[in-house]
Amino acid sequence: MIPDLRRPLIVGNWKMNNTVAESIKLVTALKHLLVDSPHIDVAVAPPFTALYSVSVALSDTNMSLAAQNMFWEEDGAFTGEISGAFLKDVGCEMVLVGHSERRNLFGETDKMVNQKLQAALKSDLIPIVCVGENLAQREKDSTLDVIEAQMRVAFSDVAMHDFEKMVLAYEPVWAIGTGKNATPQQAGEVHHFMRTWLMKHYDAPTANRIRILYGGSVKPENAPALMKETHVDGLLVGGASLDSDSFAKIVKFEERMS
Ligand code: PEP
Repeated sequence: MIPDLRRPLIVGNWKMNNTVAESIKLVTALKHLLVDSPHIDVAVAPPFTALYSVSVALSDTNMSLAAQNMFWEEDGAFTGEISGAFLKDVGCEMVLVGHSERRNLFGETDKMVNQKLQAALKSDLIPIVCVGENLAQREKDSTLDVIEAQMRVAFSDVAMHDFEKMVLAYEPVWAIGTGKNATPQQAGEVHHFMRTWLMKHYDAPTANRIRILYGGSVKPENAPALMKETHVDGLLVGGASLDSDSFAKIVKFEERMS
């Protein structure tokens, strides 16, 4: 039996969208729409430039602030990079690590994902660690091997007590920004595999406490069926999080179910 330990978490990834003014407008609309959501955790991940302003706007809410990326070094000659301490400084509680757009467009490897998540933990940030297979890998029936390999490297040398501070996200690459979401059964199978992997490498209580989100073309229409899966503990929402009504619909449905 799965203990009732995992509060649903819904995260909006705004990607490279929204100026400061647009970000404040979006988060202000969300605040009004989500004023009454006590049973569910909600976070938004604006671009770096809007983090501080959104943090100020969120200060009287329960919503959390997430960054979309970070570097693993603490400071120094790393032009263009942002450290975990800088993210804490502007009010972040969470950070996405290993998003497939970072992996595919910017060459992030599993080893880099490991360095980033270790640095996030050191900075007292909650890493939301993303894994997922591409279309060719799914068609070759190697999805679970790919997920296993990504988890093995990404989580090497992560202690059990640190693991409890993490969130995982299964994001099939073929579903991100394409309008094609995984079916609830496909998501459920991979989430179950990920939880079983955690049980094998850590222990059952730890594995049962960790939230595993699904991401990939989530919309108000498909979110409820995905969230019904036992091991789907929340959602990572890209495109639909840019529209306050769509994002709020996804959150409010879950709030009613919780
Ligand atoms: C994402 O950015 O993590 C994502 C899942 O995007 P979309 O919802 O647009 O597919």
